[in-house]
Amino acid sequence: MVKNKKIEIIINEEKCSGCILCMLWCSYTHHKIFNPSKANLEIKDRYGLAPEIIFLDTCVQCGQCVQKCLYGALKIMEEDI
Ligand code: SF4
Ligand code: SF4
Repeated sequence: MVKNKKIEIIINEEKCSGCILCMLWCSYTHHKIFNPSKANLEIKDRYGLAPEIIFLDTCVQCGQCVQKCLYGALKIMEEDI
């Protein structure tokens, strides 16, 4: 029997450095351009003490941003459905 997986992206904003690598790789993955304004997630207050990570409705949960985050602020949880 083939099991389907449901993916959930877990956010830990305390670990976020505001580097926006996640936004750059999202835009590159989906639009072939490094342009944060094309990304499917946003980092708010990236220069502040507490950046906020917001996934937009356009996110397709491909996980590329998670793989590029060097600070452990994003993680993938997989569940069988
Ligand atoms: S979530 Fe990760 S890759 Fe994105 S800005 Fe924060 S530290 Fe950088
Ligand atoms: S999971 Fe969402 S925000 Fe992250 S790279 Fe994929 S589409 Fe972009």
